[in-house]
Amino acid sequence: MVSARAAALGHSPAVAPRRVTILGATGSIGTSTLSVLAERPEAFAVEAVTANANAVQLAALARKAGARIAVLADPAGYADLKAALAGTGIAAAAGPAAVVEAALRPVDVVVAAIVGAAGLAPTYAAVSAGTCVALANKECLVSAGALFMGAVKRTGSALLPVDSEHNAIFQILEGRDHASVERILVTASGGPFRTWSLEQMAKATAAEALRHPKWSMGPKITIDSATLMNKGLELIEAHYLFDQPADRLGVLIHPQSIVHGLVSFTNGYLMAALSAPDMRTPIAHCLAWPQPSRGAGRRLDLAEIAHLEFSAPDPDRFPALRIAGEALEAGGAATNILSAANEIAVMAFLAGKIGFLEIARMVADTLYKAAELINRAPATIEEAVALDAEARRIAGQLVARSG
Ligand code: NAD
Ligand code: MG
Repeated sequence: MVSARAAALGHSPAVAPRRVTILGATGSIGTSTLSVLAERPEAFAVEAVTANANAVQLAALARKAGARIAVLADPAGYADLKAALAGTGIAAAAGPAAVVEAALRPVDVVVAAIVGAAGLAPTYAAVSAGTCVALANKECLVSAGALFMGAVKRTGSALLPVDSEHNAIFQILEGRDHASVERILVTASGGPFRTWSLEQMAKATAAEALRHPKWSMGPKITIDSATLMNKGLELIEAHYLFDQPADRLGVLIHPQSIVHGLVSFTNGYLMAALSAPDMRTPIAHCLAWPQPSRGAGRRLDLAEIAHLEFSAPDPDRFPALRIAGEALEAGGAATNILSAANEIAVMAFLAGKIGFLEIARMVADTLYKAAELINRAPATIEEAVALDAEARRIAGQLVARSG
């Protein structure tokens, strides 16, 4: 708010730059975030950057962003990180506990861009400390959604969706009465195998699955987009973020990736949010929130685009979507187990140990084998991490047996 005196003098208030920490700074979302921040150096200052094991890349981007501290999850990289930051004044640290400490440094917003369950503890620490979190790391909500939303409520922090579909829906819903929501739809490009038969997909290679038609992303989410498990994870993400039951959530295949999310209301209107497919736009929205942001990239010319297609997903060719939906309906620990098993199956596929169609099968088999764990909804983040480890062990055994 501008003070009356400053306004009378025609002064614009000196606003301190927003301090930002980026967990997973070397990844696709991490580097896109850094490019958004670099465009507005007067508005943002970087506090901490973290990565898994790449000391050289992390040190380079910490220097460029003028971060105060750079942290590697892998302790083996500490000496390299320290050496690469010598003389810069940027502190270095390593190990999983140091990543959690980085997430707890006081800032205006933490960008959660680690991939998979590795992001659970630091992201939960930030939310529990009452810090506003821009969430890309959707596996947090899939593994422990009730705990995260409970922490948001308890601390009054905000969980802002970076995921393009959820960011679109968040913007449609802002200021509206949630009781008037009839249905929420997330769109899916359909991935590289949208038109492939099951016979073709059975022989799909990692290189083919990694060739996404619309988005350039990290390897795990790119494979999730090819199986459509990504949309399954996103339905679960939407369930927690927007507090809607599974039967009010749906997926629409939309190859152009222009419409990201849609909400139908009791008044008969279906509202959609459209933008060019560029993750810098939802990232910028989260970084500036609740102030308006300046979206990245080109603006849409619908006359030029001319055609937007929509269709229902094919559950026979993309069973991952159905498996994720069933896990959401089952509740308890089912989505935690789903997420853990999927991470193991995706890694096994990328390593050439299992075929493409076996990814969804492995996830379903893990849920079946881990049936006695499903009722154990995690009550703490430590329990969520332990369940994830147990589900990984079971999925790992299935992978080993399939070889
Ligand atoms: P990525 O693989 O490009 O980057 C992952 C980041 O996490 C890297 O910085 C890596 O160093 C770090 N990391 C990996 N393992 C770690 C570990 N064990 N401990 C600590 N850090 C670790 O992934 P990405 O594509 O940027 O995706 C990040 C998250 O954002 C995922 O959850 C993904 O589903 C979500 N997301 C990504 C996109 C996108 O366009 N890339 C869009 C929507 C949502
Ligand atoms: Mg998405």
